[in-house]
Amino acid sequence: MAATRVNQIAVSDKLCKGCYLCIWACPWNVLEISEERNWRGVKKPVATKIENCRACRLCEYYCPDFAIQVIVDEEEEKEILEVEERYEKPWLRRIERRNEIVSRGVWWLES
Ligand code: SF4
Ligand code: SF4
Repeated sequence: MAATRVNQIAVSDKLCKGCYLCIWACPWNVLEISEERNWRGVKKPVATKIENCRACRLCEYYCPDFAIQVIVDEEEEKEILEVEERYEKPWLRRIERRNEIVSRGVWWLES
C-alpha cells in the first residue's frame, strides 16, 4: 500500500497554546518549534520534515486544543477552510469584545 501523501500540517494561530505535545507524540520527528509566534505570543510547532509524515494523526489525537490538522488532500483542505471561516468570525468577535472590556480598565476594582 502506498504511503499517504500529506499536503500540509496546519497549526491554528488562535488555538495553539504551545504545549508541544504534538511534537512529543510524533514518532517521525516531523514537527519542530518555529520562530513564528501566534497572537498568544506562543512559538508554534511547524512541520519541518513533512516528507517523513505518515499521516498517522497522532499529533491531532494528542493536541488537547484541536489546534493541529493533518491535511492529506485538497478536498480535506477545502473542508477545513470552510469550518475555519464558519468559526473564525465569532471567535474574532469574542477577542475584540474581551479587548474592549480590558481596555476600559479594571472596572471590577473601581466600582
Ligand atoms: S499539541 Fe496542540 S496546543 Fe500543543 S503545541 Fe501542539 S498544536 Fe499547539
Ligand atoms: S500525522 Fe503522524 S507522522 Fe505526521 S506529523 Fe502527525 S504524528 Fe507525525
